[in-house]
Amino acid sequence: MGKIIEVKDLTFHYPDQKEPLFDQLSLSIERGQWVAIIGHNGSGKSTLVRIIDGLLAPQAGTIFVDGMPVTPENIWQIREKIGMVFQNPDNQFVSADVEGDVAFGMENLGLDRDVMKYRVDQALRKVNMEDFKGHDPSRLSGGQKQRVAIAGVLTLRPDVIIFDEATSMLDPEGRQDIIKLMTKLHKKGYTLISITHNIDEAAMADRVCVIDDGKIAADSSPAEIFAQEKELIAMGLDVPYSERLKDELLHNGIEVPHEYLTEKGM
Ligand code: ADP
Repeated sequence: MGKIIEVKDLTFHYPDQKEPLFDQLSLSIERGQWVAIIGHNGSGKSTLVRIIDGLLAPQAGTIFVDGMPVTPENIWQIREKIGMVFQNPDNQFVSADVEGDVAFGMENLGLDRDVMKYRVDQALRKVNMEDFKGHDPSRLSGGQKQRVAIAGVLTLRPDVIIFDEATSMLDPEGRQDIIKLMTKLHKKGYTLISITHNIDEAAMADRVCVIDDGKIAADSSPAEIFAQEKELIAMGLDVPYSERLKDELLHNGIEVPHEYLTEKGM
């Protein structure tokens, strides 16, 4: 397997902020793993993935993607390995039809038209949108729009796909649809990093990392993060399976539906 992402002793400080956002944060992710990142608003989830993608430069620490250090010289090679899917699907469209949108990211790669067409067809098949090629993207449902955005990312053949709250603006049906697609991509071997406030999404990951106070405050399987006493204690809880758990998860940006707590016997 091997590590695809390695963040070591990361310190990051926005110049106009009093305190550093990250203080010696370390995190490694195995190839093929699905890692959910949770944490309250402002804990630094988006900043962390922007640092991994080389969009922001840290003051200290090292980041490796597939063994390659993230530096300004390597930036294009790093970006080839990482695809990003964002929160608002409407901001990701530039073309009048689905086919044009999916192809857009490849425009500057100097690929032959035939190769581009092949990659578009292949990507649309992977997200089950092959029948929508000629459709106007603005008329699709939220879930379908995110499928198209994901297809665009797939044409670039990334190893890692980062979903930055990619399900948060969708209705429940669209959200389940995208979680299902993420599960499929995970099975195909992509490494997934999903920033999320949704417990169903986090529950599908191999690992859940909680960012709090500049560090990874907890890092474990979803079952352990959400259900085990030891992890709850690690998150600063002293009473298991209680209203306190709900409060703690809420504090960490996870909304726990009441039924979920009941189902899990919490
Ligand atoms: P999250 O994704 O967990 O909500 P962010 O990474 O967006 O958190 O933001 C972390 C913190 O950094 C917040 O306090 C936010 O206000 C601050 N921040 C985000 N972007 C900038 C920026 N460009 N300049 C200064 N501060 C920022």
